[in-house]
Amino acid sequence: MNDSPANILCKSCGLCCSGHLFAWTRLNASELDSASSLGLKVIRDNPTLRGFTQPCSQWSGTCAVYLSPNYPRSCKTYKCTTLRRLLDEDISLPDALIVIQETLSLIREIDLLLPALPAPSFRERLMTYKEELESKRNGLNVLESEFLSKAKVLLTYYEDRFGMDDFVDYEK
Ligand code: SF4
Ligand code: SF4
Repeated sequence: MNDSPANILCKSCGLCCSGHLFAWTRLNASELDSASSLGLKVIRDNPTLRGFTQPCSQWSGTCAVYLSPNYPRSCKTYKCTTLRRLLDEDISLPDALIVIQETLSLIREIDLLLPALPAPSFRERLMTYKEELESKRNGLNVLESEFLSKAKVLLTYYEDRFGMDDFVDYEK
């Protein structure tokens, strides 16, 4: 059976599962046990961050738990701007794939400029390093300036192409 355009797009991307767009994904209190049983790394101790951490342990090019009856509600309902546009036939699949490939390519460039930081998700490492450089008082070297300008472009991509305009709230 052929994949739908939406499946083709999401399989080429995975950014909402891989810790690039989000550092964690929200769960309802009633989903915590079933999410644990799926192998997701559940956060239970903070009601304002109740969910599971990203990168998601069940992402490896496709979602391993997509067909489970315990598939999380947030994963079921989330659609980024590019996926919505594709479903609304406001963008063609080839153009939507280009949007994703451009974003992945920029992420790869930025990753090379990111120092090793303890945070597990790209999202947290991106924001932590960006804030660190922005608060530096004694000038930036060439690589630091390059990182900041690329991070700025990526955040506009996140906003325009994925519908993320609030970089404080890490909710999926
Ligand atoms: S970020 Fe959008 S295109 Fe990418 S996997 Fe998630 S919903 Fe699909
Ligand atoms: S459970 Fe599946 S859809 Fe949800 S974040 Fe993990 S890999 Fe993505």
